[in-house]
Amino acid sequence: MRDDIKTVFVSEIEIENIVNSLAKQIEKDYNCKEFVMIGLLKGSMVFMADLMRKIHLDFSVDFIVASSYIGAQSSKKVNISKDVSLDVGGKDVLIVEDIIDTGNTLEFITKHILDKNARSVKVCTLFDKPAGRTANVKPEYIGKTVPNEFIVGYGLDYNEIYRNLPYVGILDPSVYS
Ligand code: 5GP
Ligand code: MG
Repeated sequence: MRDDIKTVFVSEIEIENIVNSLAKQIEKDYNCKEFVMIGLLKGSMVFMADLMRKIHLDFSVDFIVASSYIGAQSSKKVNISKDVSLDVGGKDVLIVEDIIDTGNTLEFITKHILDKNARSVKVCTLFDKPAGRTANVKPEYIGKTVPNEFIVGYGLDYNEIYRNLPYVGILDPSVYS
């Protein structure tokens, strides 16, 4: 293993099992529904590519690019630099996210999609860090609950690197210092 990764936190095999299990639940819940899967880029791209190929239903896909920043009075704001191009009006929407920490991004995006008159909005996240939560969001589908550690790989980055790791690891502190 590379020496900038302290430990492998979720192995390739474990990820595969998690993705299969999420796909089964989604397949059951969205059977006969006309739904749109919306990925939040860039973090969710690897997860979504695997997840969508395990769901044997007809659905469309789209993407949003959003980033959070600290606005006036140090309140957290979310900026959308690429919005969905499909019309989600009247559709059931499933948002796919890599990891939920404060929940700020997702709270904003969920409202944003509901404002476009989606019929329903549900959230599927690969990882959930409930310890960091400040916003009121409860994902319907959670792959794995994780402790308050910074993880990378399988789409998740540190300074835009590590997204291509096939497993999820905890960074060695030497990388930050
Ligand atoms: P929040 O829920 O706080 O609005 O933001 C979630 C976003 O923060 C995730 O989509 C991800 O981009 C980033 N994030 C949160 N925790 C981690 C982590 O442990 N590792 C990585 N690479 N990104 C994280
Ligand atoms: Mg993200």
